[in-house]
Amino acid sequence: MSHRIYNFSAGPAILPEAVLEEAAQGVREINGSGMSLLEVSHRGKDYEAIHADAEQRLLRVLGLSADDYVPLFLQGGASGQFAQLPLNFLSAGQHAEYIIGGDWGAKALKEGKNLGDVREIASSKADKYAYIPKQFTVSPDARYVHITTNNTIEGTEYFDLPNVGDVPLVADCSSDFTAIQRDNSKFAMIYAGAQKNAGPAGVTIVAARKSFLDTARTDIPAIWAYKTHRDANSLYNTPPTFAIYVVGLVLKWIEAEGGQAVIEKRNKEKAAILYNALDELSSFYEPAVTAKEDRSLMNVTWRLRNADLEAEFLAEAKAAKLDGLKGHRSVGGFRASIYNAFPVAGVQTLADLLRDFAQRKG
Ligand code: PMP
Repeated sequence: MSHRIYNFSAGPAILPEAVLEEAAQGVREINGSGMSLLEVSHRGKDYEAIHADAEQRLLRVLGLSADDYVPLFLQGGASGQFAQLPLNFLSAGQHAEYIIGGDWGAKALKEGKNLGDVREIASSKADKYAYIPKQFTVSPDARYVHITTNNTIEGTEYFDLPNVGDVPLVADCSSDFTAIQRDNSKFAMIYAGAQKNAGPAGVTIVAARKSFLDTARTDIPAIWAYKTHRDANSLYNTPPTFAIYVVGLVLKWIEAEGGQAVIEKRNKEKAAILYNALDELSSFYEPAVTAKEDRSLMNVTWRLRNADLEAEFLAEAKAAKLDGLKGHRSVGGFRASIYNAFPVAGVQTLADLLRDFAQRKG
């Protein structure tokens, strides 16, 4: 794909070229079956093997044991999880606690409140979510504590997980799924819309501790009960077969690259290139995240001190084949989403533009 541009979109987002090539082949024909992957039954042997392979790779890449954790492939996006989680785990007299470090966490909280007793125990909203809130008290009787590991809009990320004692920790990992090494066994459950680091839009990835899932409700519609999908290996109803296929290819790519350690190292190097440029040019650019230790490796956010130059910067970026740099509509400014598959050369090109633009206009 010689005409590929540098795609900094926050999601759906850049995928490894090798994955795109293989997926294209699968769309043409899968396993010499005479059918496209898009045409085969989700109950047939070709798809079943793809499904099982993706499930196994998912746990392996996350470093989770199949004895203790279950992988699920669901639909409805991370936004669906904002509802499904409290629906499954909150009964009368129970409550959950949320730490809010960004707009997506706030949305999860809001949705939870529609469904049960959901409480905010910390928030950095008053400071425009410029850091990860670290002061909070968890009640030992909370049903679960919810965090967002990477705040896609604001550009902050957890590097140390919060200490929640024995209360189950649940995380929305949509925008840093597989991006950094974490001890994922600290989570009772994680979920992620696939369309950033993990694959195309259309599938929601869940990994849940079996003992936590065992306590989920079953007196809710079957389609929304986690246990329905666990018992059916995510084949209760027709799953998004193509999206799961591509997630499997992305996980295979991660393993082939050397696993999460290699991916994390690269992500750190890429992010440092941009943060170094922004810090160096701090009289011209203003990083949106004040707490350096919380700066996201995935979504680098900044503003121009002279906002009048924004359109010009974006036009120059576009001319240099740097696309998708406009900040989220709720915060403005700029955002460079540099997920696992984003090439270092593209990050370097952006850093060069940041320097060059500041020199000419500063
Ligand atoms: N949580 C986070 C952290 C996100 O970045 C997003 C999407 N940008 C969402 C939730 C919503 O995801 P979806 O569109 O899959 O519902």
